[in-house]
Amino acid sequence: MAGTTPPITILGAGLTGLSAAHHLGDDFQLLERLGHVGGHAITLAEGGYRFDRTGHLLHLRDPGIKAWMAEVFDEGYLLKVQRKSEVFSHGRYTRYPYQANTFGLPPEVAYECLQGYLATRLRTEPVAPPTNFEEFCLQNFGEGFSKHFMIPYNSRLWGVHPSEITAAWCSRFVPLPKLDDVIAGAVGLNDRELGYNTNFLYPPTGIHALPERIAERVKAPRFHTAPTAIDWRRREMVFEDNHREPYRALITTAPLKSLVASLVDAPEAVRVAGEKLRCTKLWYLDVAARAPCRRDIHWAYVPEEKYPFYRVGVYSHFSPQMAPPGGSSYYVELASREAPDLETLGPEVARGMVEMGLVASVDEIEFMRARCIEYAYVIFDHNFYSSLEIIRPFLQEQGIISAGRYGGWNYSAMEDALIFGRAAAQEAREIVK
Ligand SMILES: Cc1cc2nc3c(=O)[nH]c(=O)nc-3n(C[C@H](O)[C@H](O)[C@H](O)COP(=O)(O)OP(=O)(O)OC[C@H]3O[C@@H](n4cnc5c(N)ncnc54)[C@H](O)[C@@H]3O)c2cc1C
Repeated sequence: MAGTTPPITILGAGLTGLSAAHHLGDDFQLLERLGHVGGHAITLAEGGYRFDRTGHLLHLRDPGIKAWMAEVFDEGYLLKVQRKSEVFSHGRYTRYPYQANTFGLPPEVAYECLQGYLATRLRTEPVAPPTNFEEFCLQNFGEGFSKHFMIPYNSRLWGVHPSEITAAWCSRFVPLPKLDDVIAGAVGLNDRELGYNTNFLYPPTGIHALPERIAERVKAPRFHTAPTAIDWRRREMVFEDNHREPYRALITTAPLKSLVASLVDAPEAVRVAGEKLRCTKLWYLDVAARAPCRRDIHWAYVPEEKYPFYRVGVYSHFSPQMAPPGGSSYYVELASREAPDLETLGPEVARGMVEMGLVASVDEIEFMRARCIEYAYVIFDHNFYSSLEIIRPFLQEQGIISAGRYGGWNYSAMEDALIFGRAAAQEAREIVK
């Protein structure tokens, strides 16, 4: 094997690994632990219903990636969808983002939100930059918005209190409304969608079409193949049966934490930094219903603790092909990090979906399946940056490029994965030339 191993190995046929393969063209091997491509970007089918691994909506901004996608998909194949997202709280819906759409909330809640927001805007004394996400919310949105949405919602999403998360990552993903938007939203005059994802692209049969189409055009992966250890001193991968394969450059998209744990005799500082990396697990439900969804939304945020879920999305509103005629398909993201017991949780979720007006009665639910994403959200806690500062240069010296959402240990989207793969290919070429 050793004599025939190409100089570059890619670990993982998710979007990052596939993009690296596409941009390398040849002279690499692609190993995938599972039996299929796609990583997190897959679609499961059951009884005519289709489910991604929660909402996977495609946003394209990079000119190079846009041009590539125009080759991958025929003109007009991807659905162009205008986001319809809402917040469900106090038994009512308001549009997303909450901070620019308080119209329709109980007056005392809307008042508390506006009063707190204006207090932050009218503040005259200087404030120190926020050190954590909770402070970021209080400084930018005020007490009311923080209490009614930002803190409870984000605690449920991230699985940790926002005070444990640094403020540094917020700017791209948390929309900061203008004063005028907040005022207009309070009186029901906001007709603009805010935030970074107001439109999205979506393949009619689910997101798996994206990695599948890319995979059709690159050298086939070796499936069910993953090294158990990386002998970085010898630049070799070690497999379960103890055979070894060399690499000159290794692009790995495996979660960084597991990569560091698999390094043979990693330096103590690197090992300890790897142990400090934190990530949340996510449990969610695939839900199939016999009737169409009764509310015209793509997804809704649910901040209140009385519901066991914090977000519900409607796949069949992304594309009608995601459910059989007359049916609807959903993802329900659960706040608890424990494995759900569907016997008790299922009826609670179904009742919540009735309260939200998505289904008319619990009898419309045909089935629910519990799914887990072991690595869902990297936690940007106070050890995050210092740990990466130790791990990254070490890996770089060993010809190891750890890339992607989990390889790079970041919060990023599918287009980013394609960009990361492109950059990793370039870096690997430099190493082996
Ligand atoms: C809940 C959730 C919602 C999201 N929603 C969106 C969205 O709406 N829009 C959007 O653009 N993005 C979204 N994303 C992000 C998107 O899923 C990721 O950015 C992208 O799929 C990451 O691709 P990747 O290749 O880096 O990693 P992965 O998808 O994790 O792929 C890694 C691959 O490597 C394989 N692997 C792991 N270890 C090894 C090993 N040692 N050897 C060989 N193979 C290995 C895995 O099996 C997997 O196939 C979401 C992510 C999550 C978790």
